[in-house]
Amino acid sequence: MTEQQLRTSLLQISRRMVELGLNRGTAGNASVRCGGDILITPSALPVAEMTERDMVLLDADGKLLQGGKPSSEWRFHRDILKARPEIGGVLHMHSPFATTIACLGKDVPAVHYHIAIAGGDSIRCTPYTIFGEQNLSDLALEALCDRKACLLGNHGMIALGKDLAEALSVAHEVEYLCEIYWRTLQAGEPRILTAQQMHEVQEKFVGYKKRS
Ligand code: 13P
Ligand code: ZN
Repeated sequence: MTEQQLRTSLLQISRRMVELGLNRGTAGNASVRCGGDILITPSALPVAEMTERDMVLLDADGKLLQGGKPSSEWRFHRDILKARPEIGGVLHMHSPFATTIACLGKDVPAVHYHIAIAGGDSIRCTPYTIFGEQNLSDLALEALCDRKACLLGNHGMIALGKDLAEALSVAHEVEYLCEIYWRTLQAGEPRILTAQQMHEVQEKFVGYKKRS
């Protein structure tokens, strides 16, 4: 995709996160690989006012190449894209159910087999640390080990994909899982799937994703 097409994708995905109720106002941000560089949403601009021209271009080390102020979370976007070559799109949101679990400071256990979509049998939650700092990036990277999503303690969620579309689908699924987990906690004691049961799901998913 050209840089212009990536700017359009970044704007569309930011709008989609709002439409799906995953973000509101200036909360959350998104980035996508642009050749060897990073295209990222601007800081503190409501999505409703954002245009393609507002997207900011950084080099792989996070140095400003073009545009205004990048998202305050540019460090974890940079560090994820550097550490995870298979990842092309990074989304961050303050979606209600993921944030609820993050405010409880809980990891999401294997309460539903779809948790495998995030890459394992849990979604880890980081300790709380202030937004926009290197420490948040360090904690997020650790929580994302072998996963496509994590919760940020008392803050929100990060979702990853090979591209922005996959990252959005992971984010939407994680939000659903967090809703189910929260509902089960209201109703009683959730029954958690075992490591063996989750291993079987992972194996079955490999065949499930092949359409023929
Ligand atoms: P930015 O507007 O700087 O991207 O910040 C939003 C946010 O969610 C910080 O964690
Ligand atoms: Zn945030």
